[in-house]
Amino acid sequence: MPAFLSRLRGEIIENAPLGAQSWFACGGAADVVFRPADIEDLQNFLTRWPHEEPLAVLGGLANIIIRDGGIRGAVIQPGKAMGTVEVLDGVYVRAGAGALNGTVAAAAMKAGIGGLEFLSGIPGTVGGALRMNAGAYGSEIKDILTGAYALDRAGQDYRWTTYDMPMSYRHTHVPDDTIFTGALFKGTAETYETVRARMDEIKARRNDTQPIREKTGGSTFANPSSEALKKSGLPESTRAWQVVEMVGGRGLRIGGAQMSEQHCNFMINTGNATAGDLEMLGEELRARALDLFGLDLHWEIKRVGAQL
Ligand SMILES: Cc1cc2nc3c(=O)[nH]c(=O)nc-3n(C[C@H](O)[C@H](O)[C@H](O)COP(=O)(O)OP(=O)(O)OC[C@H]3O[C@@H](n4cnc5c(N)ncnc54)[C@H](O)[C@@H]3O)c2cc1C
Repeated sequence: MPAFLSRLRGEIIENAPLGAQSWFACGGAADVVFRPADIEDLQNFLTRWPHEEPLAVLGGLANIIIRDGGIRGAVIQPGKAMGTVEVLDGVYVRAGAGALNGTVAAAAMKAGIGGLEFLSGIPGTVGGALRMNAGAYGSEIKDILTGAYALDRAGQDYRWTTYDMPMSYRHTHVPDDTIFTGALFKGTAETYETVRARMDEIKARRNDTQPIREKTGGSTFANPSSEALKKSGLPESTRAWQVVEMVGGRGLRIGGAQMSEQHCNFMINTGNATAGDLEMLGEELRARALDLFGLDLHWEIKRVGAQL
């Protein structure tokens, strides 16, 4: 381990079992995980971490398969120390990248700020939500984002506005080495009761339709573009779960990995899955979709690390 790491204020964990800590609860370890004490600590890390060594950034591990061979190099994980949430001027919420989406939604609700309710049901952190342009029930991060704070791999800080950071369906177009450190969201002034009622409704809908108590990573595949659907001869309204259903994916199992019976675009670890099982199951479905419809299904779940 490089000597400079011991001079940082944040938490450093060697051979960190990130796979076991992920929502899928399987997969390998990371050589080093660094949870910075604050942005200055993170900048100190970035200016010293050798350029030739691999570096990744992860958040709440809710949208990720960590392959069984683990992650080489270092993983930055903005945790609780970078998780402050503040309400400003009655309609803004400023949150650190390590804040949980649920905490942001709860702070907005308490202050009677509407528009952020959808975040309440999306597991993970603000950093991951920014990177993924996370969304649910017709709203997404791009609708509430005023600005995002970030560092590049050299520790240089940036402030992105929604004009220079294009966001599309489950994707934010920024350089690969972008490390989000926080965000400023804007909602609308409403009453606590109205916001609370919408959050309760979202909770009930999720409980009814998604396997939220399973070891899962949310939607496995992104909904195909209407262009891709047109080429494959499928109706333009076809959603990813319908493609999974049509290729015989509902309940399909490989090893300990299974496509949920309840929501067939959700992949689950039934107990003893390896990351390899999960990835193989996803690739089997992609192969079937390509074979049957000429449709290239895109993973929404990210995969990192080395295969065994
Ligand atoms: C039960 C369940 C339900 C879900 N429902 C939804 C849903 O309705 N809508 C939805 O959009 N998603 C959903 N997801 C997926 C997941 O919650 C979101 O994608 C979430 O935004 C992931 O955040 P995270 O912090 O866990 O990111 P991680 O899984 O840790 O990482 C995901 C990606 O974000 C990048 N990243 C993380 N932090 C940062 C950072 N600080 N700077 C730069 N890049 C970063 C990582 O490099 C990686 O590429 C669901 C997941 C589960 C388990």
